[in-house]
Amino acid sequence: MTALLAPSPVQCRDHCGACCTAPSITSPIPGMPDGKPAGVRCIQLADDNRCRIFGKPERPAFCGGLQPSLEMCGSSREQAIRWLDELERATAPSC
Ligand code: SF4
Ligand code: SF4
Repeated sequence: MTALLAPSPVQCRDHCGACCTAPSITSPIPGMPDGKPAGVRCIQLADDNRCRIFGKPERPAFCGGLQPSLEMCGSSREQAIRWLDELERATAPSC
């Protein structure tokens, strides 16, 4: 009999950091009080591409809402940056 397995959740890739660089964030980040523009590396992203404030209340809610997914993360940092760039353009205000 074949076991029915739930799909395993996508894990964040080590040393990626694409979703902490490509999107714009409009809420304050410690060290970036106005948030950050698209394509700019978050000041809280450490050299090993881990979030320095993960789990802390000052981490923007936006960040908690970005969960790893096959669609977003793809199979490389470059794929993730491309997908996030397209999302950024698609959701940018038109004025
Ligand atoms: S794009 Fe995906 S793999 Fe890359 S840092 Fe974000 S969640 Fe992790
Ligand atoms: S606060 Fe942390 S999770 Fe959010 S963009 Fe910066 S490094 Fe990434």
